Amino acid sequence: MSILVLGGAGYIGSHTVRELIDAGRDVVVVDNLQTGFRKAIHPLARFYEVDIRNRSALEHVFASEDIEGVIHFAACSQVGESMHDPLKYYDNNLGGTITLLQAMIANGVDKLVFSSTAATYGEPERVPILESDRTEPTNCYGETKLSMEKMMRWVSSAHGLRYIALRYFNACGAHPDGSIGEAHDPETHLVPLILQVPNGQRAKISIFGDDYATKDGTCVRDYIHVTDLAQAHILALDRLLAGGESDVFNLGNGVGFTVKEVIECARRVTGHPIPAEIVPRRAGDPAQLIASSDKAKDVLGWKPQYDDLDTIVSTAWKWHAAHPHGFA
Ligand code: UDP
Repeated sequence: MSILVLGGAGYIGSHTVRELIDAGRDVVVVDNLQTGFRKAIHPLARFYEVDIRNRSALEHVFASEDIEGVIHFAACSQVGESMHDPLKYYDNNLGGTITLLQAMIANGVDKLVFSSTAATYGEPERVPILESDRTEPTNCYGETKLSMEKMMRWVSSAHGLRYIALRYFNACGAHPDGSIGEAHDPETHLVPLILQVPNGQRAKISIFGDDYATKDGTCVRDYIHVTDLAQAHILALDRLLAGGESDVFNLGNGVGFTVKEVIECARRVTGHPIPAEIVPRRAGDPAQLIASSDKAKDVLGWKPQYDDLDTIVSTAWKWHAAHPHGFA
């Protein structure tokens, strides 16, 4: 039987496919290649170029393959864009999930691991954040991901489908062998943008606001390596396959770094001075997001391997230095 990975040509999706295949699993990838890359798809995965909002095309995949579980990464994921074009996020993220759930129910596939986000919390009441804390997204991206989780909960109680939502904090880094890594067009994430400076593609990095109530005034985030995230998806899938109940887990390192600290780390790793300038805040950014991942460690047995920011950024630099234009 096979694992269906929706969005398996994207950043976290391609790293999860890699870990699944390295663990001997049979993998089917579905991706519309809107933001994913054909070259990021593992050669041993069977690939269908399908938009998950296309019900008949999705039905064809379920009819052609023997699917035992689904991992769902296929969504738009840019905070800034979601604030300017919210309907794109409702259409793709909620629309795609409706079609997926309809197809899963129709085909008797009842196990789903879902790529959720710390953006579901919004401005946290406290850090580290627990899964039971208030969810009040401050951006439309987080709002759609929270709505997707809620849709799964209702569908779960009505149809018996079981799901695990993984709320990740700030995914970064690349496979340590340097063969796959992060590539977005346009790039909006902090670590790859910083590394464009030593790569000669950007003169300086902009810091979005230095007047937050944090230790140096810049936003605090919990940076987690993409391979550790990928491993958590496999643990969650195996829990569902073993009969585990629907659940929600945070995935982070439990340590916060300011934007200035991440830039300083990249200076150490690359040996480049990386000039930085302060610019106005970005709409929708909470001041700090730090995870408590105790639940994932206790219940899933998750053991992140990369708890050191310099090591995480080093894996990203290995990828970006060798692939300055990503998969292009
Ligand atoms: N950030 C920044 N400059 C950039 C890109 C991001 O200062 O060019 C900040 C952003 O405001 C946030 C942090 O870096 O506080 C991480 O942003 P990213 O977009 O990587 O992830 P997010 O936290 O939005 O998921």
